[in-house]
Amino acid sequence: MSQARLDRWSNGRVALVGDAGYCPSPRSGQGTSMALVDAYVLVSQLADSHGDHRVAYAHYQQEMQG
Ligand SMILES: Cc1cc2nc3c(=O)[nH]c(=O)nc-3n(C[C@H](O)[C@H](O)[C@H](O)COP(=O)(O)OP(=O)(O)OC[C@H]3O[C@@H](n4cnc5c(N)ncnc54)[C@H](O)[C@@H]3O)c2cc1C
Repeated sequence: MSQARLDRWSNGRVALVGDAGYCPSPRSGQGTSMALVDAYVLVSQLADSHGDHRVAYAHYQQEMQG
């Protein structure tokens, strides 16, 4: 069993959601829910930032990390 732990969840125009970016806990059983929440928050941030992916990706990671 392994867990992704990355300092940054994006690079350039590429952003990671779900297990590729992080894994809440390999034993929590919330991975599917969190992947869906990730996608929702990421799209919301892209809309709020009017498509500026640098701003959106930074806010996305901040929001998801609390
Ligand atoms: C045994 C087990 C039980 C689990 N039980 C639960 C549970 O009860 N509830 C829950 O919420 N979560 C559970 N999880 C966790 C949940 O499965 C994951 O957190 C969730 O699937 C993550 O979704 P994802 O889309 O990020 O990644 P994934 O579901 O892993 O999707 C990634 C996809 O990318 C594809 N892929 C990989 N490399 C490439 C490539 N190079 N090119 C193209 N495609 C590629 C893969 O084939 C895969 O289809 C469980 C996990 C495991 C292992």
